[in-house]
Amino acid sequence: MILPPSMLGMLGGGQLGRFFVIAAHEMGYKTTVLDPDKNSPAGKIADVHLCATYDDAAALEQMASTCVAVTTEFENVPASTLESLAQSVLVYPPAAAVAICQHRVSEKNFLRDHGFPHAPYAEINSEADIPAAASGLYPGILKVARFGYDGKGQARVSSPEEALAALHGFKGEQCVLEQMLALDYEVSVVLARDAAGNIKAFPTTENAHRNGILDISICPARGSAEVREQAQALARGVAEKLGYVGTLGVEFFVCNDSLYVNEMAPRPHNSGHYTLDACVTNQFEQQVRALCGLPLGDPRLHSPAVMVNLLGDIWRGGEPEWNVLFEQANLKLHLYGKPQARPGRKMGHFTVIGEDADAVLKAAMLAREKIRVEG
Ligand code: ADP
Ligand code: MG
Repeated sequence: MILPPSMLGMLGGGQLGRFFVIAAHEMGYKTTVLDPDKNSPAGKIADVHLCATYDDAAALEQMASTCVAVTTEFENVPASTLESLAQSVLVYPPAAAVAICQHRVSEKNFLRDHGFPHAPYAEINSEADIPAAASGLYPGILKVARFGYDGKGQARVSSPEEALAALHGFKGEQCVLEQMLALDYEVSVVLARDAAGNIKAFPTTENAHRNGILDISICPARGSAEVREQAQALARGVAEKLGYVGTLGVEFFVCNDSLYVNEMAPRPHNSGHYTLDACVTNQFEQQVRALCGLPLGDPRLHSPAVMVNLLGDIWRGGEPEWNVLFEQANLKLHLYGKPQARPGRKMGHFTVIGEDADAVLKAAMLAREKIRVEG
């Protein structure tokens, strides 16, 4: 077991890294964050901020020599970075699991090869791979294989001609073409798995997106108990087959009460932010625990919760009127300390908790309206 006050390393300095740093500090650990942005939310509060790129040899050497264990908040860390760190320091999640999750082709092939339900897809390496109109994949979504997030790097296409145009728009990058499913709703499961293979999963959460970006998470998910349970079983299966260690997010589509795995995030997940306020152990403490070889904490949900993301859009008239949120006694506001608000940028979130799920949802939607989230 790695115990406090050891130094833990974090690759990536965004809000997920910031919450990890907060959890680690609460537990008595020291932290080093590697992120090239001098204003990164996690870098600003870490004991040490290495302001360098993810392949900077000197920064990686400093991290390896000062940290006892290293993890990530960002799936696009080069696999070579994780591999080189792993030669001299404990690194979780394993580089091989991150490599699968960071590449949509390997992610889909992983799901297919292990028999997990997923949307029909085709791998697109060049124009010649664009499926014919009769393939059954149209209407579909062309997604770049690497570096897509929050709906970026995606194009909705209804014919091979549109797919070709979209592929050109992505400059011929490797892509997958995925059939557009008629979603009833989306759910996710965030879980933690330790090196001995023990798994503790948070409850299944229902997620609503706007413009490809998570807007609201409702926990527990409404809908059928079968869907909630099936999602739990599938997420556990995915974690096991990945040989995963750490906190993992698994996203699902629900169509006619059938589940399809959408994608995996090899890190804490935005849809698990409610765990900060509504669970005995939150997803970031679990990440610390799994990394350090501590027993996983109790993931029990003690209150129904609704989380609302706060994007840069609500800064359009200047600083939002935070007082309208603070007036709500069972609302927990979290701001990430990002110096610049841009449309679509995740700046913070709030979670409403309470005893009654319907009342919590109503209060969250009202607060969302008051702080002027549109739609
Ligand atoms: P990201 O990495 O941006 O989260 P996703 O693949 O999860 O990318 O897509 C973002 C959102 O777009 C999904 O949560 C879902 O709402 C919608 N979407 C993606 N793929 C499909 C699909 N095959 N059918 C229907 N909706 C989809
Ligand atoms: Mg997604």
